[in-house]
Amino acid sequence: MMRSDILDLFEKHDILPTQQRVEVAQILLVRPQHLSAEQIIDRLMQQGSSVSKATVYNTLKLFGEHGIVKEIMADPVRKFYDSSTLPHHHFYNVDTGELHDIAESDVSIGSLPLLPAGTRQESVEVLIRVRPTEN
Ligand SMILES: [Zn+2]
Repeated sequence: MMRSDILDLFEKHDILPTQQRVEVAQILLVRPQHLSAEQIIDRLMQQGSSVSKATVYNTLKLFGEHGIVKEIMADPVRKFYDSSTLPHHHFYNVDTGELHDIAESDVSIGSLPLLPAGTRQESVEVLIRVRPTEN
């Protein structure tokens, strides 16, 4: 995603385009990928950026609230930010911590329970946890 696309996106969501927010967006939204906040912080540091950790966390939270990125709680200690916000599923390698996309059409869900009273379904996401086979 080009800088001008990011600025358009921010404008569409009424997000003030601070330099820090643009820098975080340029790392995460450049291609379909899943990054943790720590990975984004590492990349910013490699670039010599002065964005603070707190700003990165706040920015990711803001992007999540606006639906610009999708939050994936892969396990209790690992939260990832997905630059693909269209519905899809994931393989999660518990050994390496890597997430891989599964097309929505590759998963069919047979039957689901009735929703609790007073609720509507927002989404159904499948996370298939895998680990390397032992030889
Ligand atoms: Zn994904």
